[in-house]
Amino acid sequence: MPERVREELSGLANRFETFVFDLDGVVYRGNRALPHAVEVLNLLQESGRQVFYLTNNSGATRQQYAEKLRALGVDAQPEQFITSAWATALYLQRALNPGAKLFVVGEPGLKQELHAAGFETVEAVETEIPAAVVVGIDRAFSYERLAQAQYAILNGARFIATNADPTYPAEDRLLPGAGTMVAAIATATGHKPRVIGKPNPQILQPFIERGVIQPERTLLIGDRLDTDIALANLLHIPCALVLTGVATRDDVACAPLEQLPQWVLNNLSELLGDAVNNLLVHGV
Ligand SMILES: [Mg+2]
Repeated sequence: MPERVREELSGLANRFETFVFDLDGVVYRGNRALPHAVEVLNLLQESGRQVFYLTNNSGATRQQYAEKLRALGVDAQPEQFITSAWATALYLQRALNPGAKLFVVGEPGLKQELHAAGFETVEAVETEIPAAVVVGIDRAFSYERLAQAQYAILNGARFIATNADPTYPAEDRLLPGAGTMVAAIATATGHKPRVIGKPNPQILQPFIERGVIQPERTLLIGDRLDTDIALANLLHIPCALVLTGVATRDDVACAPLEQLPQWVLNNLSELLGDAVNNLLVHGV
């Protein structure tokens, strides 16, 4: 590992114009920035590269994520963040009537994105069946919420999941992700959700269609094979796995073809030069 990050772009980073970073396990774990993340992100931006952040974590708004990165020392604006909560709100604007009522199993950040998109949220599903049950990470998940979600879905509400990640990396351990709540509701209802977040390509397609993200000039960096890397491969975006989060080198060795990254990095400093030593034999 280099002592300090290089001061100008080199190596893998020099080959791309746009970078799409996952957050949990890539930029930080909990409230702790991962090694070299702050320096590398600032260097990319100072060098004129376009940087986006793409997270399945629906617990916060884009504004809150921008504030979190600024607190860690990264220059960040809300427009750089693509979150599963925001993408879910955009999807529901197309799928439901304006102002439709929703039952949310999730955190305030998700509710705020849904309210900003014009939806109402309800707390008691027995009095009025909502148009949809929207499920994201909910660290106050309870049997009561599960029972309400079950009742609404069995009485006709759509079942929408912001994401289905089984876990996410906290500072020194893995914790249960939204996928565990989604699985509980799926089991209780016998229904499968529509999942909006990674690896559903819909989360990035609007940016590709508008030419904001050009896949061949973009590098996606993530820590999960089944979401980050699977999405990149579906959209033909070159991708690197960084080993500071969920996936390990052993996971890469066992991964199906559609979840194989082109590069494996020990940490983000390797974007600036040492990554070629980690090239896998296949891909780009
Ligand atoms: Mg992650």
